[in-house]
Amino acid sequence: SFDEGVGAPSGLSRAATQGHPIRATPPRFATAGEALHTVFGYESFRGEQAAIIDQLVGGGDAVVLMPTGGGKSLCYQIPSLVREGTGVVVSPLIALMQDQVDALLANGVRAAFLNSTQDAAERSRVERAYIAGELDILYVAPERLSSESTKRFLDRGTIALFAIDEAHCVSQWGHDFRPDYLALSELAERWPDVPRIALTATATEATHREITSRLRLEGAAQFVADFDRPNIQYRIVPKAEVRTQLLDFITTEYPTDAGIVYGLSRNTVERTAEFLSARGLKALPYHAGLDAATRAATQSRFLREDGIIVVATIAFGMGIDKPDVRFVAHVDLPKSVEGYYQETGRAGRDGLPSTAWLAYGLNDVVQQRRMIDESPGDLAHRRKLSAHLDAMLALCETVQCRRVNLLGYFGQRAEPCGNCDTCLTPPESWDGTVPAQKLLSTVVRLQRERNQRYGAGHLIDIVRGKQTPRVTQFSHDTLATWGIGSDLSESQWRGVVRQLLAQELLKTEGEYGTLALTAGGADVLSGGRTVILRREPERPERASRSARKATAADDLAVNDVELFEALRAWRAEQARVQSVPAYIVFGDA
Ligand code: ADP
Ligand code: MG
Ligand code: ZN
Repeated sequence: SFDEGVGAPSGLSRAATQGHPIRATPPRFATAGEALHTVFGYESFRGEQAAIIDQLVGGGDAVVLMPTGGGKSLCYQIPSLVREGTGVVVSPLIALMQDQVDALLANGVRAAFLNSTQDAAERSRVERAYIAGELDILYVAPERLSSESTKRFLDRGTIALFAIDEAHCVSQWGHDFRPDYLALSELAERWPDVPRIALTATATEATHREITSRLRLEGAAQFVADFDRPNIQYRIVPKAEVRTQLLDFITTEYPTDAGIVYGLSRNTVERTAEFLSARGLKALPYHAGLDAATRAATQSRFLREDGIIVVATIAFGMGIDKPDVRFVAHVDLPKSVEGYYQETGRAGRDGLPSTAWLAYGLNDVVQQRRMIDESPGDLAHRRKLSAHLDAMLALCETVQCRRVNLLGYFGQRAEPCGNCDTCLTPPESWDGTVPAQKLLSTVVRLQRERNQRYGAGHLIDIVRGKQTPRVTQFSHDTLATWGIGSDLSESQWRGVVRQLLAQELLKTEGEYGTLALTAGGADVLSGGRTVILRREPERPERASRSARKATAADDLAVNDVELFEALRAWRAEQARVQSVPAYIVFGDA
């Protein structure tokens, strides 16, 4: 359907030499302000919108880092209306192109898209409109733009600008890399005179640098907006009965409001949606395993109906513009701070108080570390995933303001916000060196003395002195560290293990995620390193678990005198770091 003519050079003069009459879409408005009022009905520009638009209208390039909901779309839509020609927008979200185009058409903007969902007839209709100079804005999927025939087709019309939305997809370091985006570096060479704008809500310095260099935007004006979203309250709670916790949160704080709940697997999404629905909330599942019609219906109910909760994998939400989402909840630990910040940024676009709620527990850490170990790809790729996870864990375990941590991650300084969970209820930190030593020494003893490795649950049973069938089977009640940790509850121990994993004093190994010592852990064992932990709010344990309350001294005294002495000494001086009991000496661990 394209002109297959030879080596069409780019730009106006070229197409003219081929004998195509150029019918550039004429400017629709003389000024940006006029377009803002007439088309979008807004009073004034927000933040740096006006400066960004000026830059594009004047023919310059721009890189725009602006949080979700900041108003990035206008930054390329308005210049497309003010400049001659058609604004070509690259967007990775085929599912959303239709919505965006519909919204523009409803405002009287002549918009269309080209992607793989169209048949040949639809495509050629769009192509003809573009060539005839009848389109203000054309959305194109990135994989289309890399094909030579698309490039030749674009040469037959006039391009007002290129907008590369969700530009972080070009970053291999980032969390959402799409190989098709790499080919966008060619735009600069092929159309050197067409202004380009790259936009993203991901703002780490590494991603920013990668966008600039990979898209050849070194000479572009850089616009970095304030990333703070002061109306969002960040809250991270230790995970117990996560669905019940979620239900409590929603019904006490947002019983009739719209929200998004994110989970990592389809299974979690399905079960969580069922659970909430069974308790009277309007909750709908959304994941890539559902057919397109169901997903479209869910998305449109979410946008149009009040109080819908979408329970989704990360397949949902990018580019969705709903101003009154009151909460974004995560029932699984997100894989990166970037992803988390983008997802939570979908709450409260209207500026009203909203909540970002995350439940996070030991299993999240174990699972994600295991997934990283098993992930295909090279060492560099696993290192990247691991660095992303570490930053996420640091956010979860911080005893300081969540917002300071988050914005710091994006290279922005902030004062404690007074609104997040840690500001409102400052968590205490405590010296967890001794409990850490108890657990680590259990891990090491089992491995050395019995060549056995276990996951967190069984190890906690051992240090708490819990008599389970497995403990009996393997005579773990004869282990020297059996029962020495009965002073902490099971959930406290889970918090300890989780934080040891987060701090990489413990690591998971193999397909069962058994726990093993790290070099850092060995330092702790030999008394060379202090472990500072975050104190968790205590929860009552379930009756079945606490049926038998073992006390340390009961089980312990008989078989390890040395250990008992050490333990007694430790109890006497519980608060003091220096009191490293003798039982933890494993010099060459
Ligand atoms: P982003 O792409 O940065 O996440 P959008 O472009 O989707 O954000 O804009 C978010 C919301 O803000 C939209 O509802 C949009 O219409 C609105 N908006 C953008 N600019 C303005 C403005 N200058 N005045 C009022 N509302 C605006
Ligand atoms: Mg957007
Ligand atoms: Zn805070």
